Amino acid sequence: MRAATPIAVCLALAASSYAAADTIILKNGRRIVAANVTQDASRVTYHTPAGDLSIPRSIVARIDHDDFTYAPASADHSQPPVSAPPIEPVPGFETVASLAVHGDAIDYAYLSNLDSDAGSGSPMAVGKDAAAHHAAAQFLEHKGDTDAAIDQYREALIFAPQNNGLLLNLALLYLQQSQFTAALDPLERARRTSPDSPDVAKMMGWAYYGANKMDLAIEEWKRAEQLRPDTQVEQALAKVERDKAEEESYREGETDHFALKYNGGATPDLARDILRALEDDFRDLESQLDYTPPEQIAVILYTQQAFVDITRAPGWVGALNDGRLRIPVQGLTEVTPDLRRVLKHELTHSFVGQKSHGRAPTWLQEGIAQWMEGRRSSPTAGGLVEAAAQGEAPPLATMEGSWMGLSGNSAAFAYAWSLAVVESIIDAGGVSDVSRLLDRIATSPSSEAAVQETLHSNYAGLNEQTVAYLKHAYLR
Ligand SMILES: [Zn+2]
Repeated sequence: MRAATPIAVCLALAASSYAAADTIILKNGRRIVAANVTQDASRVTYHTPAGDLSIPRSIVARIDHDDFTYAPASADHSQPPVSAPPIEPVPGFETVASLAVHGDAIDYAYLSNLDSDAGSGSPMAVGKDAAAHHAAAQFLEHKGDTDAAIDQYREALIFAPQNNGLLLNLALLYLQQSQFTAALDPLERARRTSPDSPDVAKMMGWAYYGANKMDLAIEEWKRAEQLRPDTQVEQALAKVERDKAEEESYREGETDHFALKYNGGATPDLARDILRALEDDFRDLESQLDYTPPEQIAVILYTQQAFVDITRAPGWVGALNDGRLRIPVQGLTEVTPDLRRVLKHELTHSFVGQKSHGRAPTWLQEGIAQWMEGRRSSPTAGGLVEAAAQGEAPPLATMEGSWMGLSGNSAAFAYAWSLAVVESIIDAGGVSDVSRLLDRIATSPSSEAAVQETLHSNYAGLNEQTVAYLKHAYLR
């Protein structure tokens, strides 16, 4: 039996700050979505905008702690720790660029002529060749063909092996694809010609950080700071140093796809079981999202206190993924169903982040992560449809960036809405639609453009589809 949720999720949570959304399931099948649910021997009490209400415990079947709390601490799911410096390999060759790419296509005959000329070794011919391949690479990257873009830089480097612009652009493509080890090769070559380049040090720090080599990341970012102070590098450095200090005494474990660190808050058995669960999840996500993260993923198990100290996340954040999976496991001795869901949720963020080159909007990140962990919209459908009917369906454009500024109730609503949107996409076209959307977002000028190209709908249309889906699936 389906009973309408008495109040919209957003309202149910309105009076609670950062509280989890719980669902009280009554023995008659009715569900109450509420915040701050507490119970004693005889009564179950929950919070509503009208004040605390309580019901006899004898009519309650169970309480699901349906927490929306293991949230993004920020929008930085798998986002790079620093951004790439703008690099123009060969300034002053705009004409060459427009001859290499015109009419929305690459002029391969022109490129091949330039390659022949560059074979002479004349600096002018080599410069032209580099500029042309750079233009072609940028065009291909924009079209979403990163592998072909990489090939363009490789061809140009045959004639201009010491051109730092080419080397750094090539490294950037690898970094954006999370191929950190591959990125180190061009960076090391750039270092040989420009030992004092702050850009090389900044990007090397990024590569080492991604490859989970924290000592080397610290070394490079310190060097970058000395060469040219940079706020981004300063922040990244502070963060990695906090991590390193905390993890010094941690034990380690490793599987094909994960590098795990944990302290005395976790037992070796728990660590092993977590790795096993993550490997299962990895295989599942790999096939569902048609993507394999190229490097090992770092996972850190914390005590609650260490988690709070290190992540500096607000109190309502239960676990997070900022490129490394950070999971508090205090008091756990085995992989409980809740922990399983958290692991799958956070791992999904890694897949989504890397596949979209760190560009997936937050609504899509959280929608997919919730869907993959097994969450569905049944408890929230009534409230969401009601909210939409009152004109309160949130425009997806407002849910693309960080959710940090949202109040607890708005965040819960944003999570529920995002899940519903992703559910409706998957209902209409399968998980493969989500996979294609992520590929497109990696290179589209905007997320909405990618939605338009892959799903043939704009954001408003997607919201309409979501409401129709919720009514059809849950409210008939
Ligand atoms: Zn999340």
